[in-house]
Amino acid sequence: MKAIVVSEFGGPERLQLREVPDPQPGPGQLVVRIRAAGVNPVETYIRSGTYASKPQLPYTPGADGAGEVLRVGQGVSRFKAGDRVYTSASLSGTYAEQALCAEAQVYRLAAKASFAQGAALGVPYGTAYRALFGKAHAQPGETVLVHGASGGVGTAAVQLARSRGLTVIGTAGTDRGRGLVLENGAHHALDHHAVDCAEQIAKLTGGAGVNVILEMLANKNLSRDLQMLSKFGRVVVIGNRGTIEINPRDAMGRDATITGMTLFNVSPPELASIHAALGAALETGAIHPVIGQEIPLAQAARAHEAVMADGAYGKIVLVP
Ligand code: NAP
Repeated sequence: MKAIVVSEFGGPERLQLREVPDPQPGPGQLVVRIRAAGVNPVETYIRSGTYASKPQLPYTPGADGAGEVLRVGQGVSRFKAGDRVYTSASLSGTYAEQALCAEAQVYRLAAKASFAQGAALGVPYGTAYRALFGKAHAQPGETVLVHGASGGVGTAAVQLARSRGLTVIGTAGTDRGRGLVLENGAHHALDHHAVDCAEQIAKLTGGAGVNVILEMLANKNLSRDLQMLSKFGRVVVIGNRGTIEINPRDAMGRDATITGMTLFNVSPPELASIHAALGAALETGAIHPVIGQEIPLAQAARAHEAVMADGAYGKIVLVP
């Protein structure tokens, strides 16, 4: 089969298409025929060699994918060959024609979802769901600011929050992105580059501030976020690419909570619960992943450049 292989850490050009042996499932494992693989920013950090935990070289990137079950190993009870599935992690990497997975890394894909949509679920929707409900404990009737609402995690967060009865404010850096934020169900769309973003939030909330902020670029926004929060507000740091100075008094006076999260820390039972909720939301139409770009697997380098570029529009997937 064909797979993207990284033999040395470095730039996007390190993503090389190679012929590799077909994976064979051991006990409790299965092989998925990948029809689409999700591209997440973390995969660019790992490829560059700057991420805290590094895989052993050579490796095939990718956690998210969707397709059909091809082969199952001994003891696999939930799936059989031919089942439509998506993955939230993989033992061998999803930037490939086939991916070896543990049974617990695989979920059934609702018939109404395309494979590209299935490949958008694992990391983005898993992260958005955990941030909103597992970390911020967002409640119906509250107001959430999705700070960075045009990309993979942000579109997921807007749909999930809206379906749960929150008032949703989303930001994007382009007119096209703000259009998407509104189409996804946000009540208001703002420009995160606007100098008066905090004043606009104050106006929209009648001066009270927002109850919850999901932050995609904390090194740019965390200081201002603390000033946009309501009393007892919560900020969840999802994305961060540097350092920032904050005034802790902004948190103190509001009894605010700043919490971080990494999907890698989520326990298997919590992950199973998250995906049970996401599967149901997909079936009822409460969530509907937006695919911005489908890029051939052989052009994985282009996909890594695109996912780090400004002007996000939903999810980027690779198609083998
Ligand atoms: P993505 O699809 O590339 O989207 C990036 C988002 O960040 C876009 O909405 C983009 O908006 C927005 N953005 C750009 N500049 C911003 C600014 N100054 N303020 C606020 N938002 C800004 O990436 P993603 O998959 O949604 O992931 C978002 C971030 O979360 C990444 O840093 C990623 O590494 C991180 N992440 C963390 C976890 C975790 O477990 N903690 C899991 C998944 C992702 P425009 O392009 O419209 O400007």
